[in-house]
Amino acid sequence: MEKFERKANEEALVRRAKKKPSKKENIITLVPVYCKGCGLCVDICPTGTLQLEDNIESKFGVSAKVDAPEYCIGCKMCELRCPDLAIFVNYDEDQEK
Ligand code: SF4
Ligand code: SF4
Repeated sequence: MEKFERKANEEALVRRAKKKPSKKENIITLVPVYCKGCGLCVDICPTGTLQLEDNIESKFGVSAKVDAPEYCIGCKMCELRCPDLAIFVNYDEDQEK
């Protein structure tokens, strides 16, 4: 990973360290084939739930991963920010509404 990607991970972990696990279980669906590893979701997640990781199966070499799902508060900021529609939060729940 590049330096800026490691920095994004470190900053996310700092945010996570200030949070407690969410009271509600939220389901995050990441579609690896759509993820280009830009890190926008990692940067915007207020709870540090997401991280970037090296991914040799991706043509971009890096992709996002759901590192600590128990910290997700379901705010959907990642979903709204992702330019490639690669991440969804509580998708099934939304479909039922
Ligand atoms: S914002 Fe979307 S494309 Fe970028 S790393 Fe996150 S899931 Fe992947
Ligand atoms: S829904 Fe909010 S808390 Fe959950 S992973 Fe996305 S940005 Fe982070």
